[in-house]
Amino acid sequence: MRFSGLRVLKEGLTGNRGWGPHWRDPAPKPAYDIVIIGGGGHGLATAFYLAKEHGLRNVAVLEKGYLGGGNVGRNTTIVRANYFLPGNSEFYSHSLKLWEGLEQELNYNVMHSQRGLINLFHSDGQRDAAARRGNAMINQGDDAELLDREGVRRLLPYLDYDQGRFPIYGGLYHRRGGTARHDAVAWGFARGASDRGVDLIQNCEVTGIDVEGGQVTGVQTSRGAIRARKVAIVTAGRSGQVAAMAGMRLPIESHILQAFVTEGLKPVLDNVVTFGMGHFYISQSDKGGLVFGGDLDMYPSYAQRGNLPTAEHVMEAGMALMPMIGKARVLRSWGGIMDMTPDGSPIIDRTDIGGLYLDCGWCYGGFKAVPGSGYALAHLLATDRPHDSATGFRLDRFRDGVGLMDEEGTGAQHNLH
Ligand SMILES: Cc1cc2nc3c(=O)[nH]c(=O)nc-3n(C[C@H](O)[C@H](O)[C@H](O)COP(=O)(O)OP(=O)(O)OC[C@H]3O[C@@H](n4cnc5c(N)ncnc54)[C@H](O)[C@@H]3O)c2cc1C
Repeated sequence: MRFSGLRVLKEGLTGNRGWGPHWRDPAPKPAYDIVIIGGGGHGLATAFYLAKEHGLRNVAVLEKGYLGGGNVGRNTTIVRANYFLPGNSEFYSHSLKLWEGLEQELNYNVMHSQRGLINLFHSDGQRDAAARRGNAMINQGDDAELLDREGVRRLLPYLDYDQGRFPIYGGLYHRRGGTARHDAVAWGFARGASDRGVDLIQNCEVTGIDVEGGQVTGVQTSRGAIRARKVAIVTAGRSGQVAAMAGMRLPIESHILQAFVTEGLKPVLDNVVTFGMGHFYISQSDKGGLVFGGDLDMYPSYAQRGNLPTAEHVMEAGMALMPMIGKARVLRSWGGIMDMTPDGSPIIDRTDIGGLYLDCGWCYGGFKAVPGSGYALAHLLATDRPHDSATGFRLDRFRDGVGLMDEEGTGAQHNLH
C-alpha cells in the first residue's frame, strides 16, 4: 500500500474503506538470524535499515507492550544537529540528513517540520560558548547563526527580555532544527520494516538472554524461547535491566523526564525555544498545544510518571521566560524513563558476549537520533564494524576513560547531562 495525495483523495471520497493495517501481526518463529529487543524508535529503525540497506529480513523485533508505547511516543519531538564534540557532532549531523529524506524513504508523513531551534543565552560567557558551538556546527557542515537580543526579539517578541535573573542576551539559531510527529516515526519505520519481511512481535516480553560458551544463542520470552545468532538490546530506560539478564552491569542510571502540553491555541510559537538557564524548553505542536518540559526529576526510577516539585519548577521557568503562558491551561503531563550514561553520550557497540549488541544511553536526546542510530546499529549488526558516524559510541570508554564525550562538561554524574 503506497500513500499519495491521489490515494488520500480517493479514500476520502469512498468512505476510507481501502486502508489496511500498517504492519503484519505474525506469531514468533522458533529462530531468527537477528532478534532486536525493544520496539521503540531505535529498534524499529534498526530493523528497517537491516532489511533495506543490508537485505537482512530474517529479523524479529520483540516488544513487551505495543509498538511506540515507550519513549518514542512520549518525547517532545525535537530534532536537531547542534552538538559540539567530535563523535557526537558527525553522528547527529548524519541523523539529521536521514530525517530530511525520511518521509520519501518511508512513504510516510512523519510531519518533520524544520521550523528552527533557538537556544537562548543570558551572559557574555554564555554568548562565547554559543558562538563556539555554532562554529563547530558550521565546521561539521550544519547550520548555525548567532542572534543578538534584537534578532531574537524579532522572532520571539513576547519573551520577557529583562527578567532580573536571566536577561536575554541573544540566541544560537539552528534553522534546520525542528520537530517531527513522534508516533508517526515509530509507525513509519514499523510499516517499512514489516513490508520488507521483518516480524514485529508485540506483547512479547524478553525475560532471559541465553548465552552458551560466551556466545548468545537466543532469548526467553513471555511467548516462548526464540533462538538467534545475534541479539541487540535496544530498550532505552530498561537497558540496565535487560542487560542484567546476560549478566552485564551497564554504566547507566534510569531517570524520569516529564513533559507537559496545554490546550490547543492558535499559532503563536513558530520555533523551538530552549531556556537552558531555567531548565525549560518549548514548542507548539501542529494541533496547537504548547509542548514543554524541563530537567530530570533527579532521582532514579522506572516509573513512567514524575513528581510535583519538577512540575512546579517547569511552570515557574515557563512563566519567567514567557509570561503569557500563564493564560494557557495545561491539559496533561507524562513521564518517560531516560537511560542516562555518565558522559551523557550514547552507546552503540558489541559486548564481550559474542553476538550480543547494545544500543542505549540516549539520555533525553534519543528521538532525533532514531534514524541515525537505526542506520548505525544495522551496519554494526550486518558487518560487525561500527558505522563511520558512530565510531565514538564505544562501551569500553567507561572502562578506560578514553574517548568520553561530555558535551555539558559536568563530569561523571548521570543525572547532570
Ligand atoms: C518527556 C520526554 C521528552 C523527550 N524529548 C526529546 C526530544 O525533544 N528530542 C529527543 O531527541 N529526544 C527526546 N526524548 C528522548 C527520547 O524519547 C528517547 O531517547 C528515545 O525515544 C529512546 O529510544 P527508543 O525510542 O528506542 O525508546 P523506547 O520507545 O522507550 O523503546 C524501548 C522499548 O523497549 C521495550 N522493552 C523494554 N524492556 C523490554 C523487554 N524486556 N522485552 C521487550 N521489550 C522491552 C519498551 O517497552 C519500549 O517500547 C524525550 C524523552 C522523554 C521521556
